[in-house]
Amino acid sequence: MLPDRRLPAAGRLVRPARDHVTSQPSPRCRGPCCPTPDAPCPPHLKTLFISDLHLDPSAPGTLAQFHAFLEGEAPGAEALYILGDLFEAWLGDDDPEPEHRRAIAALRRLTDSGVACRVMHGNRDFLLGQRFCRETGARLLEDGAVVDLYGERVLLMHGDALCTDDTSYQRLRRIVRNPVVLWTLRHLTLEQRRAIARRMRAGSREHVGQTAPEIMDVNAEAVASAFRAARVRTLIHGHTHRPAVHTLHVDGQPARRIVLGDWYTQGSVLEVTPDGVELRALAR
Ligand code: MN
Repeated sequence: MLPDRRLPAAGRLVRPARDHVTSQPSPRCRGPCCPTPDAPCPPHLKTLFISDLHLDPSAPGTLAQFHAFLEGEAPGAEALYILGDLFEAWLGDDDPEPEHRRAIAALRRLTDSGVACRVMHGNRDFLLGQRFCRETGARLLEDGAVVDLYGERVLLMHGDALCTDDTSYQRLRRIVRNPVVLWTLRHLTLEQRRAIARRMRAGSREHVGQTAPEIMDVNAEAVASAFRAARVRTLIHGHTHRPAVHTLHVDGQPARRIVLGDWYTQGSVLEVTPDGVELRALAR
């Protein structure tokens, strides 16, 4: 079993760190799949990946699907990875929005049942912080983390860092991920952050409306560099809302790039087991 390493998402060097390792089944489960506490627990050799749910009080269908997923399928997994943009907007961990509190409570029930939960920042919810982690029992995962999935090292990203053809977006990304900017944002009042979020969403809508779709997809060279830097053969990411399992070659070696779908009109989940991967749409 190889140790997990965090790798640079965009050329930065990040200290190696251990994270959830899926090579062993959870020794004990108290989830709904194992109703009798003393009965032997079946091995939960299944890890789930989702991203780009864009949870928002104005989208009740997505909220209902997310809660049904957390109560139905997720407890049967050993781990749930959320690879960014769980929320359409995250003003900060002090946001009292009732639907956000309800999502936090649901994630807490999941982690309390023994399912490990890892959350990566997306471009919408990059202010998710330590209080969110304490309240949900989830852990933040660095963009560009490498985890061991049943013996294979797999690179996990939100995906926006790979869209290098979109230079104006990358400029914005560098600004909002700057530690000084993040610190400043966290110290504004909720009302000030609300106003900034409104402006950012309007700007994003305008940008998406004006930018060619291929510009907003991943750049092939950025993808190849990510594979090389992480020394992996599998990459899982979201962000582009183009769910697919792509096979490609990097330096003559076969590789695969698995893209999670968004939850705007249906759900999207990737199931990874020792036998392989399955990318599924969750119909509504
Ligand atoms: Mn995104």
